[in-house]
Amino acid sequence: MKPSPVKSTIDFEQDGLQHGFLKLPHSHDESAYGSVMIPISMAKNGEGPTALLTGGNHGDEYEGPIALFDLARTINPRQIRGRVILVPAMNYPAFQAAKRTSPIDSGNMNRSFPGNPEGSITEKITDYFQRTLLPLAEWVLDLHSGGKTLDFLPFCAAHRLEDKQQEQRCAEAMRAFNAPYSMMLLEIDSVGMYDTAAEAMGKVFITTELGGKGTATAETVRIAKRGIRNFLIHAGILKGSPELSPSIHLDMPDQRCYIGSESNGLLEMKVDLGEKVQEGQLLAVVHDHQRTGTEPVPYHSQLDGILTARHVPGLIGMGDTLAVVATVTASP
Ligand code: ZN
Repeated sequence: MKPSPVKSTIDFEQDGLQHGFLKLPHSHDESAYGSVMIPISMAKNGEGPTALLTGGNHGDEYEGPIALFDLARTINPRQIRGRVILVPAMNYPAFQAAKRTSPIDSGNMNRSFPGNPEGSITEKITDYFQRTLLPLAEWVLDLHSGGKTLDFLPFCAAHRLEDKQQEQRCAEAMRAFNAPYSMMLLEIDSVGMYDTAAEAMGKVFITTELGGKGTATAETVRIAKRGIRNFLIHAGILKGSPELSPSIHLDMPDQRCYIGSESNGLLEMKVDLGEKVQEGQLLAVVHDHQRTGTEPVPYHSQLDGILTARHVPGLIGMGDTLAVVATVTASP
């Protein structure tokens, strides 16, 4: 395969703290010989494990970028062993545009792995992660939130994997992150995901959903910062003791967890995030706002659990995920 067109301005073998860019040539109307400049930092202190920390895989999710720009500024290489590589906004063009996908090529980074060095801008970035950054790391944390169209309970997640020992190591890292909720996650479609790429390489991979609505709250940012620190301590990279509090364990046993809308209209939730629900319970109704006097369409939970995610903002479309219900497996 062709070499990547992405060039790093930092040296991954050099000790100390470096700030630089992943520089990707992009010729366009506003800049004939221009480049996409993706910020990257690395702290390194001698031999040891490597952690790769990312946010902004989707450009409208903010806890990861806030926590990682903060960590890049404050991390002290003398307090670590090994390497911490930070990319606060993976899909930087999407992040700049405050959009889920890239304004350049409409690329959804988390559906574009393993990428292509001769493909679109998004595929060139994912190819660089696939062939250059992921192979450097044993520990991988990708911070997500709901973006502009979902809101989540704050959870850290690991996936069910074929390799049960790897699944165990990922689940341990998820518990170490110690978000208020810890989720064994079932993806709606795992093809092309960064998660799947990292897991296929045998990495310890965890992800998060920490909130959403296209912004971040003081509480969800605190959860991100604390979880990153706990994760680096768990990986044996950062010195110190983890800061732990009770976490509710959740599971998504099958696709019944996802409730999709089959109507366009005005969304009226009947249950809020974190509330317990029972199979058959009314979760929401969707009103036809084009005329008065019509009955709203009801949506019910398909299993017992708690409301873990919901659609935002107030209007919903056909095919949108309306709600996610997860089952509680352990409650402190
Ligand atoms: Zn995301």
